[in-house]
Amino acid sequence: MKVSRFIFNMFGVNTYVLWDPESLEAAIVDPGMIDGRENEALDNFIGKHRLKVTHLINTHSHLDHIFGNAYVKEKYGLEIKAHPEDEFLATDLPNQAKRFGIQLPLTPQRTEVELHDGDTLFLGKERIEIISVPGHSPGSIALYCPESNFVITGDALFAGSIGRTDLPKGNQATLIDSIQKKLMTLPDSTVILPGHGGESTIGREKLANPFI
Ligand SMILES: [Zn+2]
Ligand SMILES: [Zn+2]
Repeated sequence: MKVSRFIFNMFGVNTYVLWDPESLEAAIVDPGMIDGRENEALDNFIGKHRLKVTHLINTHSHLDHIFGNAYVKEKYGLEIKAHPEDEFLATDLPNQAKRFGIQLPLTPQRTEVELHDGDTLFLGKERIEIISVPGHSPGSIALYCPESNFVITGDALFAGSIGRTDLPKGNQATLIDSIQKKLMTLPDSTVILPGHGGESTIGREKLANPFI
């Protein structure tokens, strides 16, 4: 599976496009686009590689990860896939933005296809395994692609850091438990693709992350 990263919006979120080079099926993970220029960057990439987008997935429903949900849903005719425990954040998108002083025409979002721990999605023949990692938000999930040896961790785990837990329904003890039991048990060579900042590996975080 191939992965491309875009960095969008004022929070510098990582939006990932995963695609299978054989079937050209693609997933858009955490569409963070906030304007026409950012939409175009994503669309140009999809068009250039002739990708057929089959999944729209949110690692969690904080505003920076779902700004572009409505656009992607409409443009590519997709349903929003996310964990149901974060729907209270998705439906609250306009208020989340207001609290950060952000003036954008945003509409409440719904979770249309529920993703739960242990679920598997496919891109071509390759698996995307859903791992529930609550703590940063109650419905946070990681996306593990064992054949390609990477895991998208959203805002649960970053290179050298972990997600904040001071936002609604965040819980630091839960987050650390999620990381230790669900992520640190993956193979050391697994590449971490976080929701913000650059990549790492499970092995490197075991040694160097001061929070775990
Ligand atoms: Zn977040
Ligand atoms: Zn974020």
